[in-house]
Amino acid sequence: MADTAYDPNNIFGKILRGEIPAHKVYEDEHTLAFMDVMPQGEGHTLVIPKAPSRGLLDAQPETLAALMRSVQTVARAVKAAFDADGLTIFQFNEPAGGQTVFHLHMHIIPRREGVPLKR
Ligand code: IMP
Repeated sequence: MADTAYDPNNIFGKILRGEIPAHKVYEDEHTLAFMDVMPQGEGHTLVIPKAPSRGLLDAQPETLAALMRSVQTVARAVKAAFDADGLTIFQFNEPAGGQTVFHLHMHIIPRREGVPLKR
């Protein structure tokens, strides 16, 4: 379907190409992590694959494996850095699912007991 093709001009594609700045916190051969510009909580971090995947459904298995390895690495670091009690980790697919940037990404938000998300 044409509306679910990967468009390299999405904002995370631009971050990957260095065309716009990001507060990067982790990078390896296959993935990049950076701080969310509109955080739903202190320490809200995004992890993306470098491979051009629109969402979970079109991603290659090796892309997902590399992404989840980095999610675990970044989640451990974020939990320690923000002295969190727990973590909320999530991912949206397509506008109906809440996706607004069409390059696969995982949200990681450190959580404190009794502190709700901002939105
Ligand atoms: P989703 O597509 O709804 O899962 O969320 C996209 C996320 O990207 C939102 O949490 C935005 O705040 C975040 N975002 C949008 N533009 C940028 C940016 O330029 N840098 C970092 N985060 C961004």
